[in-house]
Amino acid sequence: MAILVERDNIGLFGKMNSGKSSVMNLLTQQETSIVDKTPGTTADTKVALIEFHGIGPIKLFDTAGLDESDVLGEKKRKKVFNNLKECDLVIVIIDPETEDFTTEQEIITEARDLDKQLLIIYNLFSKKGKDCVAKVEQKIPLVRFYKTIEISANDQTFRDSLISFVIENFQSKNSQIELLPFLVKNEYYILIIPMDEETPPGRYLRPQAMVEEYITRHWAYPISFRLDLGKARSKNPAIHEEEYARYLSFVNNFKHPPKAMVTDSQAMDIMSQWCPKEVLLTTFSIVMINYISKGKLQSFVEGVKALSNLKEGDRVLIAEACNHSRIGEDIGTVQIPNYINEKFPGVVIEHNFGREFENNEDLKKYKLIIHCGGCMISAQKLAARLRDLDSLSVPYTNYGVFLSFIQGTDSLQKVLEPWGLKEVLNT
Ligand code: SF4
Repeated sequence: MAILVERDNIGLFGKMNSGKSSVMNLLTQQETSIVDKTPGTTADTKVALIEFHGIGPIKLFDTAGLDESDVLGEKKRKKVFNNLKECDLVIVIIDPETEDFTTEQEIITEARDLDKQLLIIYNLFSKKGKDCVAKVEQKIPLVRFYKTIEISANDQTFRDSLISFVIENFQSKNSQIELLPFLVKNEYYILIIPMDEETPPGRYLRPQAMVEEYITRHWAYPISFRLDLGKARSKNPAIHEEEYARYLSFVNNFKHPPKAMVTDSQAMDIMSQWCPKEVLLTTFSIVMINYISKGKLQSFVEGVKALSNLKEGDRVLIAEACNHSRIGEDIGTVQIPNYINEKFPGVVIEHNFGREFENNEDLKKYKLIIHCGGCMISAQKLAARLRDLDSLSVPYTNYGVFLSFIQGTDSLQKVLEPWGLKEVLNT
């Protein structure tokens, strides 16, 4: 049976005569589009089916100029915006020597609203074009959130650098990532699930359900242990010991040790002590953020290093990607702020709840973003968030990484070991 591979849709957008068709020809290396100086040469969207080594099968759209104002132009505009909705990658082609960038601004704003991946090509028609790039970036401030390249689209020698630019900066929707890449068939995996006041009755939380399903699907064995965090943390030795003995009697039931434990991040103060040395340990939050970010866990680990430089008056943003009900010792509003207040006195903590950052322009004021597992947003939405943070050089980390780090470097190294990232902290 033939396997249907979904193509990535890549669209070329811009004003009339910005050089979209030349870029199309450069990418496809053939006369796919008609190129001449008459405005509006691309009367309708042209489509080419190509294959890029490093991305896979692609449907490439060469769209009509968005700045045509006659009746036919209005129809074209609708068509172009429909194309944009379909695209996985929006490429905006800008001739920096022009003066009015309303069209480009409109395309970028629409693409941002739809969380599209976006790249910018400055098409230089003369030497003067290079000097005009700074002017474009002043007139379209949103450009700073995106990667740019300067080429002369009529010059074939730019082909390789253009293709490399696209491959390096585009995440294909066909790229797959394993939820637990360290999983081994026929091994046991312990899920440490405290079930606090926020746990809804009748179901597991999404990360817990996904991990359990993944382990079962891959012919291994998930087993849950409900940890009583109150007892485990009790200052009364008898109560603490009672919970520890219950845990030990559970773990000692196994003829050979489980392969790994996946714990609720908030139990890291306990599990960093209780998990046996020979058993791998990680957290649900780390599993999720690696999965939803399509393997960007290392960036969240790099980000946690910013904690070491925090000083009084610095701002930290705690970001949760949904608006779940927050009761009792909520992790984002109570537990993490308590740790920060204790370890970094004087640091100002702010919150952002929901699918959007309240104001992306303001993100630069934060010294660190601490992000939840992101289980309720799409990979596309998270990628858009991380792209903005990367472009502003604002470090970000994740609940699981933070709560492990707070227990000491050894604890963080322990939860990173399954991901092959143990050494990242030392670099
Ligand atoms: S989106 Fe974030 S805050 Fe909401 S349930 Fe998932 S991990 Fe928790």
